[in-house]
Amino acid sequence: MILKGKTAVVTGSNSGIGLGVAEELARAGADLVINSFTDRDEDHALAASIAARHGVAVRYIAADMSKGDDCRRLIEQAGACDILVNNAGIQHVAPIEGFPVAKWDAILAINLTSAFHTTAVALPMMRAKGWGRVVNIASAHGLTASPFKSAYVAAKHGIVGFTKVTALECAGQGITANAICPGYVLTPLVEAQIPDQMKTHNMDRDTVIREVMLERQPSRQFATVEQIGGTAVYLCSDAAAQVTGTTISVDGGWTAL
Ligand code: NAD
Repeated sequence: MILKGKTAVVTGSNSGIGLGVAEELARAGADLVINSFTDRDEDHALAASIAARHGVAVRYIAADMSKGDDCRRLIEQAGACDILVNNAGIQHVAPIEGFPVAKWDAILAINLTSAFHTTAVALPMMRAKGWGRVVNIASAHGLTASPFKSAYVAAKHGIVGFTKVTALECAGQGITANAICPGYVLTPLVEAQIPDQMKTHNMDRDTVIREVMLERQPSRQFATVEQIGGTAVYLCSDAAAQVTGTTISVDGGWTAL
């Protein structure tokens, strides 16, 4: 229980990687604030279920990470934020000349600007305690590019740069900031694409995963949300106290190519 007594706020954590990271932080003993933009009974039930399974305190706070005021309110309402995981993110795929302006603005707001707002409110709380961890969920697309993902690649490269600045402004204060760069992770969002891809390519599940979806991931295996969560727990541990301003790829070798 290396994180007992710490409070973690994870943005965009009612599914996928955010939920996986929240679960692993809870398993390590951290109290949690989980978040998304919805405010459904099932969101609060999810918080109760994590709390019951791991014996930690978990609250669900609805806040829209596309809105600066909501981002700031999330951290203020959390009341404590020893560990901040900026995870909320969306994607849209289109060529630059046809990229919808509203999608560009939303991707930049949710995937990049939200981290500026949450970090701005969380850092004074961390400084007051002389301890803190900022973990930004970037992407292999924070280090490399793919066509048709202009907004996503720009936002993810941006979050890597923002992580470095955060690390420098907090150096020597017991606070670290790092970015995790996942390759393809098997989240419900990705899982849902498999049947369609199987039909389109007339391939079985394993072949479509290996030959189509993971074509750029040399391991030809998805990363898992547990592995991303475990990486976050490592970054929060004492062993990582001098690991700051860097990126950790969890991408099956994608960025080694
Ligand atoms: P997901 O769609 O399962 O999860 C995204 C989460 O963000 C959800 O909880 C959703 O409710 C939340 N969210 C979306 N818009 C929001 C908003 N306006 N306000 C608050 N919350 C909002 O996707 P995921 O695959 O788990 O992605 C999570 C993060 O990991 C993203 O930043 C994504 O770019 C990154 N990532 C994912 C992969 C992958 O292969 N799945 C790879 C690299 C990086």
